[in-house]
Parts: sequence; structure tokens; C-alpha cells
Amino acid sequence: MAQPLLEIQDVSVSFDGFFALKDLSITLMPGELRSIIGPNGAGKTTFLDVITGKVRPSKGGVQFKGSSLIGFSEQKIARLGIGRKFQTPRVYDNLDVLRNLELAAAPAKNAFSLMSNKVPTDVRDRVHTIMSYVGLAPYARSLAGSLSHGQKQWLAIASLVAQSPELILLDEPVAGLTDEETNRTAELIKDLAGDHTVVVIEHDMEFIRDLNAPVTVLHQGSVLTEGRLEDVKNDPKVIEVYLGQSQS
Ligand code: ADP
Ligand code: MG
Repeated sequence: MAQPLLEIQDVSVSFDGFFALKDLSITLMPGELRSIIGPNGAGKTTFLDVITGKVRPSKGGVQFKGSSLIGFSEQKIARLGIGRKFQTPRVYDNLDVLRNLELAAAPAKNAFSLMSNKVPTDVRDRVHTIMSYVGLAPYARSLAGSLSHGQKQWLAIASLVAQSPELILLDEPVAGLTDEETNRTAELIKDLAGDHTVVVIEHDMEFIRDLNAPVTVLHQGSVLTEGRLEDVKNDPKVIEVYLGQSQS
């Protein structure tokens, strides 16, 4: 069997005695698309924080391509090929779409390279491909700040792809998007899977259904259940934790 791309083994994260993650184990295979759902406070964002090195687990293992990531800085983990999109898209509002993508593809080492327009041809070609792919080519010279919320989300995703990560982590990528933008985002993410391993955290169940990927349900920092959305949705344990949330 192929080697897992990412293996989280019995990870716990304690914030002053409160366990945001509790003996969490999740394995991702190369090229896999995985949806993660769960009520507010389930530990979804903390799970990404552990993978990206923002939060250090109190115990457990995090292995990427067979090597431990524990103790590595966020920068080092990003360089190893793990990219993340935060809940609020991070783009440079005062730069145009093209420049945003160029900087993502070939990060500026200093203020001078930030100002200069010299971009290697291979980077330029890659950036144009990605820009067309997310439908932003007509906006190449538009300031990122002038884009719609949906277009900013795509720019943020495109910026991630421009960094060529093997593992792409998306935290609530369709929050605040229109239905049409949400549908397009689902198509985009399905296209990315295969070439990349993609983890998507989302509340929007229509969107999760569109992704048509295995679903992991988190609750109180642990895996409650895993499976196809249709099965997971009808699982009494899952219904109970979501009902508990809507009543509170
Ligand atoms: P989700 O993304 O599933 O809504 P989070 O991972 O953000 O959940 O949070 C899980 C739990 O851990 C929540 O109860 C949250 O309040 C708590 N938590 C997250 N980060 C911290 C922190 N830095 N300090 C203390 N508690 C935190
Ligand atoms: Mg969250």
C-alpha cells in the first residue's frame, strides 16, 4: 500500500487543561480529498494549527511523508509543501491579481525584489495558468482590494496553488460566498484533488455534498465518525451533536 501523505496519531492539544484535541488520529493518502465537519468548537481549526506548526501538540505524532513535523516552525512546514488558507482570505489588497500570484509563486526576499517586476519565465507561465484556471485572468491588472469576496477567496486559493504545496488545507472556503460562487469553488477543489491532497473544513452541507468526498466528523477534539456524507448524516451520534449545537 502507498505511504500516507499525512498521519496524525493520538494527538492531544491542551490549552490550560482544556483539551481542544483529544487523542485525534487522521490519515490522509496522496491525492485524497477529505471533508472535515463538526459543530463549533469541535477542534477543526486547531487540527489545522497542529499540522501547520502554529500549535504544538501536548502529545501524539504528526508525520508528513514519513517524517515527523513536531517542533518545526510554520515557515519550515510551509516550505515542506503544506499550504493553508485561513478563514479570512489573506491577499495583498493594494497589489493587482497578477502581482499577488507572482509573489505567492516566488516570494520576495526583500523590499527590492518586492518592487522589481522581474519574474522568471517559468514562474510567469505557471502564474498565468493558475490565474486562468480560477477565472481571474480578466482581472490580472485589477487591485485585489477591488475584487468581490468570492474572487478574493479564489485569489487566496490560487495563491496557495502557486506555491505548489502537496497538501492544501482550506478552512471554510465558501463562508460568505453566493450559491454560484460556492458551486464554482467546489468544482475548483475537486480539480485540485489528485494533483494535490486537499482537506476542506466547512459548515455548508450542500457544498460538502458537492465535493462528494469522504467525511470526517470531529466532536470535542476527537473523530466522532468517518464515512460517506449520506451515512454520516444519518448517524444518530452525529444528529445528536448537531442538535445539541442548535439548541444552545
Ligand atoms: P472549530 O474550528 O471546530 O470551531 P477550534 O479548533 O477553533 O474549533 O476550537 C476548539 C476549542 O478549543 C474551542 O473550545 C476553542 O475555544 C478552544 N481554543 C482554540 N484555540 C484556543 C486557544 N489558543 N486558547 C484557548 N482555547 C482555545
Ligand atoms: Mg474553526
